[in-house]
Amino acid sequence: MTRFDEIAEKLAQVKERIAVSAAHSGRQATDITLVVVTKTFPISDIEILKELGVSDFGENRDSDGAEKAAAIDARWHFQGQIQSNKIRSICTWSHVVHSLDEARHFTMMEKSALHPLQIFLQVSLDGAKNRGGADSEKLYQLAGLVQASPVHQLKGLMAVAPLTGSAADSFSRLADIHRDFIAEFKDAPSLSAGMSGDYEEAIIHGATHVRIGSSILGSR
Ligand SMILES: *Cc1c(COP(=O)(O)O)cnc(C)c1O
Repeated sequence: MTRFDEIAEKLAQVKERIAVSAAHSGRQATDITLVVVTKTFPISDIEILKELGVSDFGENRDSDGAEKAAAIDARWHFQGQIQSNKIRSICTWSHVVHSLDEARHFTMMEKSALHPLQIFLQVSLDGAKNRGGADSEKLYQLAGLVQASPVHQLKGLMAVAPLTGSAADSFSRLADIHRDFIAEFKDAPSLSAGMSGDYEEAIIHGATHVRIGSSILGSR
C-alpha cells in the first residue's frame, strides 16, 4: 500500500466516524471542523492530506509549524503550550490558536499581530497545571480581554481530556462549562475538543473542532 492510499483510507474512516457522531448530536459532518495534527509528520504527508481535501492543520511546536506553514498554504492551527519567547513567531504563521490560557500571553499576541488570529481559550478540566488551561475565574477574565480586542477574534473554548477518568465524564463537564460560557459570550460558540482516542465522545458533547493526528497519520 502506498502512503497516499494508507492516509486516504484512514482519513475516510475518521470522516465517517465524525459524521456518525455528529448525527448522534443532531448535527452534520459539515458542522465539525477537522484539524489534522501533523506534529512529527513530514511535509510530504501534509501534501497528501491537502490533495485529499484537508484544509486545516495543527502543530504543537513553533519551529515545526513555521517550517511547515511556509511550505504548505493552508489554515494553520497552533495547539501547543504557549511560551512567551515564541509568541512573536507563532503570530507570523498561525491563523488559529487553541491554547491561550494566560492574559499576559494575549497582551503579547496583540502587540505581535501581523494578521487577525482566531483564539480558543484552553480550559482546565482537572486543575492539573502540566496540561495547561485556565480555571473558570481566569477563563472569564481572559474571555473579556480577548473579546474586547480590536485585532483578534474570540472563537470559543478548547480542552484536553485529563489522563485519568473517563472521557465521557470529562466532556460532560466540559459541555456544562461551555453552555455557561456561551450564555455570556454568544459570539464565541466554538468548542475545540477531541483527539484520536476520544473525538467521538467529544463531538457527542458538542465539539465543533476536533484535533486528530495518529488516527489518520499513524503512531508517532
Ligand atoms: C497531539 C495533540 C493532538 C492530536 O493527538 P492524536 O492523539 O495524535 O490525535 C490534539 N490536541 C493536542 C493539544 C495535542 O497535543
